[in-house]
Amino acid sequence: KSGFVAIVGRPNVGKSTLMNQVIGQKIAIMSDKPQTTRNKIHGVYTTDQTQIVFLDTPGIHKRQSKLGDFMNNTALNTLKEVEAVLFLADTSEGFGGGDRFIIEQLKGVKTPVILVLNKIDKIDPEALLPMIEQYSKLHDFAEIVPISALNGNNVNRLLEQIEKYL
Ligand code: GDP
Ligand code: MG
Repeated sequence: KSGFVAIVGRPNVGKSTLMNQVIGQKIAIMSDKPQTTRNKIHGVYTTDQTQIVFLDTPGIHKRQSKLGDFMNNTALNTLKEVEAVLFLADTSEGFGGGDRFIIEQLKGVKTPVILVLNKIDKIDPEALLPMIEQYSKLHDFAEIVPISALNGNNVNRLLEQIEKYL
């Protein structure tokens, strides 16, 4: 099985940390060279059975200008072409305007979106369920996976969920 996965989320939610956690274990390649116009391959996760190419998606998180809109369209096209989108949220910060903007962008995309609730090491476990309910009202997420990208908690489970969509 193989496929492409785009990672979206506002700054500081832990996108880079997640990449390091996944790719750090089983590294195939890691490159900052632009792949196409606005896409970056951040890493390829490879096992005997699986290859997952992770793409950073710059420009999805804000709209400022005509150029910003252009970048947004390009980012949106990326989201339409991948097998799954990972939408990262920061549970220690909670839901914010940056999240809302990204979720609005995701409305126009049929690709399955996996909600990744990151930084669970920082929160009271009881805070998780209300947060899941809040996010679920905003989008029909294909999967919801709480993780700690920093300590790796539940990241294997996230990889299993991604593999379902390859
Ligand atoms: P990005 O902007 O989305 O790429 O976010 P980064 O990966 O750079 O992370 C931003 C900050 O959050 C850094 O200080 C990370 O160490 C921290 N961080 C990321 N994931 C976690 C997590 O699961 N738990 C905790 N406690 N901190 C995290
Ligand atoms: Mg980053």
